[in-house]
Amino acid sequence: MMRKRILIIGAGAAGSSAAQALHQSGTDLEVTVIGAENLAPYNRTTVNKGLLSGAVDLENIILPGMDLPGYAWQLGTNVTALDPSTRTVELENGATIEADAVLLATGAEPRALTAAVDDGARSRVLRLRSAADTQRLRALTIANLPGHVVIAGAGLIGTETAAVLLEAGCQVTLTDPSPLPMRNHLGHTIAQWVATAHRTAGVDFRPATTITEIRAADEALLVSLAVGNSLHAAVVLASLGVTPATGWLEGSGIPLQAGRRPGAILVDQDQRVEGLSGMYAAGDAAAVPGLDGKPARIEHWGAAISQGRSAAAAILRDLHGEPSEVGSTQPLIPPATASYSTYVHGTKLTILGSPANGVREQFILGNLDSPRFALAFFDAEDRITGAVGVGGARAVNQLRSAIARRAHAAELETEASFEPVGGPQ
Ligand SMILES: Cc1cc2nc3c(=O)[nH]c(=O)nc-3n(C[C@H](O)[C@H](O)[C@H](O)COP(=O)(O)OP(=O)(O)OC[C@H]3O[C@@H](n4cnc5c(N)ncnc54)[C@H](O)[C@@H]3O)c2cc1C
Repeated sequence: MMRKRILIIGAGAAGSSAAQALHQSGTDLEVTVIGAENLAPYNRTTVNKGLLSGAVDLENIILPGMDLPGYAWQLGTNVTALDPSTRTVELENGATIEADAVLLATGAEPRALTAAVDDGARSRVLRLRSAADTQRLRALTIANLPGHVVIAGAGLIGTETAAVLLEAGCQVTLTDPSPLPMRNHLGHTIAQWVATAHRTAGVDFRPATTITEIRAADEALLVSLAVGNSLHAAVVLASLGVTPATGWLEGSGIPLQAGRRPGAILVDQDQRVEGLSGMYAAGDAAAVPGLDGKPARIEHWGAAISQGRSAAAAILRDLHGEPSEVGSTQPLIPPATASYSTYVHGTKLTILGSPANGVREQFILGNLDSPRFALAFFDAEDRITGAVGVGGARAVNQLRSAIARRAHAAELETEASFEPVGGPQ
């Protein structure tokens, strides 16, 4: 029997975890992984943390266990077109590859600044998605102190990056269009706490404004803000969120999400692309059904790994018609119950579920003056949507199952869920 041909597009978290899972299954397959970056799969979460600060080198962040004998890796190669009816892709050099199953795992790309940027300034207006982006940012900031960096966007990545650059000795200005950072994601109280944390740490935090123009002015950049004043900076970093890296799929027949957050590939619970056989998608590029059935992107490392494994399991089931163990150890994480953590100037935040879907927030541990505190978020029916713990507040972890089943506030108040576990916190 001819070996089945699997094509994985994107050698990031989702693509590489799928390749690894296919290999672990022991099935005799012809697997090709094509990745635009000229680098073995690496841990992208470090590119604005350890890799930027210099705490780790590139070789330390290469993912282990990716030496998969017999698998073909075509790195430094862009896929430019896809015909899902024949499962054929075209590479940037014009070559075509046909497969029995194709996994789309192209991730996401940073949103561009809308500011007017003159030609002389362009090379110092940066983005941060890849290890190569980190090298450019490091060269113009940490390697060239005391550089002044203006970061546009005080979301998770902007906030983490501001802390790393500040700690390394840079002067940091952080702008955000909202009056409070991350309010849309983490609610009013946490947003207030984050704004205070920035100012206390020494970040020049400029809320409720955007960058309108960037011009080269001698050695520096002149950065104009919508509020009227301007700043001198060595570098501007755009950190305004991401959009799915699926522009190359428009018009191909692959179903893409419409609406407010467009572009993600619509998949079912098993990462199969809706309505197309032999096509799968995983990671930041995919929108999976949430608890409410609506498609949602998760944009977290653990979810991308888990979705890559689920896609591998679905591919094996579909091609060989047999149940597969692959992926079963890591069940799919629905967006509503995903969790992640981040550090804000050294303080850990643990985020569970979707605080953003809440219309009411309530302290479940401590208060804004406590070194550790936690909040739960409730929707219009007073059902819990998410929780945020600050300072290592492990109390939030007890709310995992309540969030997954959308428990009512009244139910939670009768449970011991809000009691800290494992001794004093
Ligand atoms: C700076 C930064 C910090 C982060 N920190 C955290 C964190 O602390 N915790 C957390 O949970 N998550 C974090 N994330 C998010 C996390 O890294 C992503 O959710 C995860 O990498 C998504 O995996 P993926 O495989 O979908 O995409 P990616 O890892 O982006 O991989 C996609 C790959 O596909 C390639 N590609 C794109 N288009 C094509 C094409 N046409 N042809 C061939 N190849 C293509 C890309 O070059 C890329 O290499 C961070 C992200 C960034 C950028």
